[in-house]
Amino acid sequence: MAAEIVLHGIGVSHGIATGPAYIVQLDRPKVPQITIEDASAEQQRFEAAVETVRGDLTALKGQSKNLPEEAAEELDLLLDAHLAMITGSRLVRGALKKIADEKINAEWALDKIMRDLASQFRAVRDNYIAARIDDVEAVGNRILRTLLNLPYLSLDSVPVGGIVLAKEISPSDAALLDPRRIGGLATVHGGAAGHTAVMARSLGLPAVLGLDPVILERSSHGSTVIVDGVEGKLILNATPETLKLYEQKRDALTADRTALNEITAQPAVTKDGTDITLRSNLELPRETDAIKASGARGIGLFRTEFLFMNRTTLPSEDEQFEAMAGVVREMEGESVTFRTLDIGGDKLAKSVGEYLAEAANPALGLRAIRLSLKEPHLLKAQFRAILRAGALGPVKILLPMVTTADEVEQSRAILRGCYKDLKNEKVAIADQMPPLGTMIEIPAAALSADGLAAVSDFFALGTNDLTQYTVAIDRGNDQVAALYNPLNPAVLRLIEFTVEAAKRMGIPVSICGEMGADPKYTALLVGLGIREFSVGFSNVPRIKQRIRTLTLEQCEEHARQVMNQYEPARITDLVNRFRP
Ligand code: PEP
Ligand code: MG
Repeated sequence: MAAEIVLHGIGVSHGIATGPAYIVQLDRPKVPQITIEDASAEQQRFEAAVETVRGDLTALKGQSKNLPEEAAEELDLLLDAHLAMITGSRLVRGALKKIADEKINAEWALDKIMRDLASQFRAVRDNYIAARIDDVEAVGNRILRTLLNLPYLSLDSVPVGGIVLAKEISPSDAALLDPRRIGGLATVHGGAAGHTAVMARSLGLPAVLGLDPVILERSSHGSTVIVDGVEGKLILNATPETLKLYEQKRDALTADRTALNEITAQPAVTKDGTDITLRSNLELPRETDAIKASGARGIGLFRTEFLFMNRTTLPSEDEQFEAMAGVVREMEGESVTFRTLDIGGDKLAKSVGEYLAEAANPALGLRAIRLSLKEPHLLKAQFRAILRAGALGPVKILLPMVTTADEVEQSRAILRGCYKDLKNEKVAIADQMPPLGTMIEIPAAALSADGLAAVSDFFALGTNDLTQYTVAIDRGNDQVAALYNPLNPAVLRLIEFTVEAAKRMGIPVSICGEMGADPKYTALLVGLGIREFSVGFSNVPRIKQRIRTLTLEQCEEHARQVMNQYEPARITDLVNRFRP
């Protein structure tokens, strides 16, 4: 039996899973290049592969009904487009012709035609057409893998309890993971605060990212693997003793969780009576039941970008309204803070692809509010949908990636216009304009917090991006993950500065980045003046439990000690050693 292998990565969610490995390899395989004699036999082999792919795609269409209605509709459209691409298309005709003309094997011919098409598409210099390269690639890869007898594995066919092992899972792929079916996730790329990690946490999936690429070579399909999201380990070829140990660990975690759930009905209040508002972040509308069960007071961050993912067209105002209204209704009077679209950087969505030119530094480019103000129709549809949802319960609006007060003022002017239009159209909306808040997640915004507070109704600290931009470390990059540290004194000073400016200007400030979801940091953040947290639902009980063990005096003293330090290592040590 193969020896046990323990690999270390970044544990991004509190959970342990054991299950069969499901290796997702969607890369272009190595293509053999052979000259052939019998072109017609080779053409037949190619046509047989195309027929197999047609069958696979048709079968996939049948599975789309497990998705939410709009996503299913989009997936069906996409699959129809892919089916059309294998029916007498340039791709298929071109490959058949190359086999005959150049007397080469089917794989080589297909590879050549895929490259030709990609370069022709790219030459058009149109983003929409450039995005079609992905479709050619997806369909071509399927045929190539079929010809080579390599499995084309997609996330749709993971067996129940399967552990997905992949080089990379994009945030939009992660949105398609069904936590009822998938046991856990292990990837080579990704950092603790990247959006894939955020998604894994919100789905409650045990996950380890940033693992050595050998995970894809040393594990075999179907072999039992263990994902330890707590300690950041992936274990291959586990011995019976290790499996037993992990069974016990998993039971202990489940018991912990059950104990934690008992405090859901209790208030989030410090031992000496300081009330803390504890809300939940939401990535996917289907999380509302779990959010309510977690004991969270409403939703402090509704990331609307997931309404735009896994589809090729923009969601209409009505579609967005339906999704938002459903969540507002389900929250039964607790407020919901909708953040406008934050696409760009590591979060991409085909539906907005045509507005996003390829950029050398997408994290510093046209993303979030910058895109929404450049394409105000995107912002208007969102504002209108949110205002309409506001007729059903309390809503707030949050602007992502704000750099200057001017961006807030421009947005507010557009919001006022939408409000007026909807009134004139006699559409049901909130009686009052909802509060308009600003994400503080760019150092320039934190340092201009007083100016921004003058034009904002509230602040939300996005420490994931604030850390990334302050320490110049890509939040999703596993190679520099060790340097990604929200305890860097520069980040802490920006938080302190922001909280003080908000206090002076009399506006509330919350934290909705991942820093707020780690109980290690709760005392420090309360000590720095934070009174509102918004965290993934699975962390709500844990943070509440922590809050209930603290006194304000203790937190303030801890914050004072931390803020007197300038060495990240010393600060980390102080934070780790802090005991309530
Ligand atoms: C953040 O940056 O901290 C944040 C909450 O926003 P996102 O993770 O969606 O970028
Ligand atoms: Mg952010």
